[in-house]
Amino acid sequence: MEIISGKTLAATVKEGLKSQVAELVSKYGRIPNLVVILVGDDPGSKSYVSGKTKAADFVGIKNSLLHFEDSMTESELLAEVNRLNDDSDVDGILVQLPLPKQIRTNVILDAIRADKDVDGFHRLNAADLFQSRITCETVLPCTPHGIIKLLESKNIEISGKHAVVIGRSNIVGMPVAKMLLDKNATVTICHSRTQNLAEITRQADILVSAIGRPNFVKADMVKEGAAVIDVGTSFNAETGRICGDVDFVNVSDKTSFITPVPGGVGPMTIACLMENTVRCFLNHVSDSK
Ligand code: NAP
Repeated sequence: MEIISGKTLAATVKEGLKSQVAELVSKYGRIPNLVVILVGDDPGSKSYVSGKTKAADFVGIKNSLLHFEDSMTESELLAEVNRLNDDSDVDGILVQLPLPKQIRTNVILDAIRADKDVDGFHRLNAADLFQSRITCETVLPCTPHGIIKLLESKNIEISGKHAVVIGRSNIVGMPVAKMLLDKNATVTICHSRTQNLAEITRQADILVSAIGRPNFVKADMVKEGAAVIDVGTSFNAETGRICGDVDFVNVSDKTSFITPVPGGVGPMTIACLMENTVRCFLNHVSDSK
């Protein structure tokens, strides 16, 4: 069994970006600029946002955090997004999820200009992925993209393998399933209504769990020698610690590769966010030439 350290891979990606950003700044005379919006005081969200701005500082991406009250209305948030859409100095806009109940997430995500959508959640970016029309303008969602990079970093064979994804969200489950399919895996997507889930997960050469239930994936649900990617991030507000979906202690011995939580998918999500910001910047500077 080998633990895939997302922390190590993310550090390598960020080092590379740091040099690239320094070169881009001297070439174009402008610094890539990321604006993060946080609405409310959810401790998990605050911690994720701080990880993102810290990474941007490291890479040399200009960044700012706009923090609003939990009572903010949808139209107030839309006005902020539109202001940033119109600001030619802003390359990336990230609205930290989840949003308070009174704000419709999809309305906000679709309001962010697709070329500033560093999370890759806008429907145009999603359409590029799901219709296999990816170009240099497409922004891929960070967590699924990070998962593919984690698998590839260890040369884990994807083509022809059976990949099982637990979870079908637009943010993780669905896009990672499509990315695995694009790499020629045979993909099964499971969700809360799946029957005989363990029977299916036991067939997985690659098992991706993205549900957010601590210790859900037990040893008897995993095939000997499988590569297991744990996306789950359950935040314990009391301890301030996070834990994954996989019962790591009992599952890890059965696997060929496994990601830890923390230190697995999370750091790669942030590294891919930095890559996306640089990509948006490059699209903007080449558009303005
Ligand atoms: P989500 O939108 O809540 O989706 C959860 C999915 O899990 C749903 O498709 C749900 O099925 C499925 N599910 C829930 N309980 C299940 C069960 N008992 N058996 C089978 N499937 C079940 O969550 P998400 O945004 O995809 O995030 C999933 C987890 O990943 C969360 O813990 C989140 O914090 C974490 N996450 C981590 C990162 C990172 O960077 N590490 C990034 C994003 C998300 P239904 O569709 O049937 O309801």
